Amino acid sequence: HAKDAGRNNYQFYESRLSTLVSTRLTLENRLRRALERQEFELYYQPQVDIASGDFIGLEAMLRWNDPDEGPVEPDVFIPVAEDSGLIVPIGAWVLRTACAQAEAWRSKHLIDVPMAVNLSARQFDEASLLDIVADVLEDTGLPADRLELELTESLIMRNPELTADVLDGAKRLGVMIGVDDFGTGYSSLAYLKRFPIDRLKIDRSFIADIETEPDDAAIAETIIAMAHTLRIQVLAEGVETVGQLRMLRGWACDAYQGYLCSRPLPADDMNALLKGLRAARLCGLPDVGHT
Ligand code: C2E
Ligand code: MG
Ligand code: MG
Ligand code: MG
Repeated sequence: HAKDAGRNNYQFYESRLSTLVSTRLTLENRLRRALERQEFELYYQPQVDIASGDFIGLEAMLRWNDPDEGPVEPDVFIPVAEDSGLIVPIGAWVLRTACAQAEAWRSKHLIDVPMAVNLSARQFDEASLLDIVADVLEDTGLPADRLELELTESLIMRNPELTADVLDGAKRLGVMIGVDDFGTGYSSLAYLKRFPIDRLKIDRSFIADIETEPDDAAIAETIIAMAHTLRIQVLAEGVETVGQLRMLRGWACDAYQGYLCSRPLPADDMNALLKGLRAARLCGLPDVGHT
């Protein structure tokens, strides 16, 4: 009986596997088509100064609405785009679109803050990355210090020499560098300090339970204090409650991003929000004492 069950399991597994493989191929082809048909869109999420409630940045988030299947999660399609190399042309589209949008909002005097763009390892490996960045800045007219490149900690650590070269080049262009998802890799802050990093973003998983888990709170507080010792700014990701924001303010965390202020919004909705706000301080704590 055990043997039969084993074989059944194996056949089940095998058929699941082939389904997975074919799903992946289809997804890859659909992604290829999506790029041609311009099915991608960027959403934008504000980054907020904790002390003042001001918007100090925006992050561009890639979205894909497949006309047949509906919206596909980034965590589903981005890994496929990375494995297939499609993330390179898609990423170039993201850079160009995000910078053009940032410059459009700047020229309308709606907001003038850095636009953060996520980079993946495959883009980093392309020798042309910095040329593309320079071209996009020139073509869109966005000042270099209004672009922030977000790299994950694991991307940085994968090939430290290459990272150092590319980041030095990026700093020569004048763009900002942020470390995304900090805490999920194994690097020390002291080691990261060897790279020209402007800002650290503490991963959402460390922020989620700071109100109930003393260990998580201690980790977040320690990261913030150490980063400040090294003169690196800190942003907390995934802030959803006023309680979390109060704790972060108590630890002098510089900035936050999260549903508490706003979900990532389509460009039109962000445009309406910015017009309504006129960079007003909607996302601070009620008692921070500004007018
Ligand atoms: P990320 O760069 O760390 O972005 C933060 C993710 O957390 C986003 O998910 C955002 O929608 C979500 N988020 C923001 N605030 C909250 C909150 O308060 N609570 C919760 N539960 N989630 C929150 P999203 O848009 O699904 O993106 C997932 C990941 O996909 C991103 O993580 C980033 O690594 C990657 N990604 C997104 N856009 C791009 C892109 O243009 N290029 C590349 N290479 N990767 C991208
Ligand atoms: Mg990011
Ligand atoms: Mg992140
Ligand atoms: Mg992430």
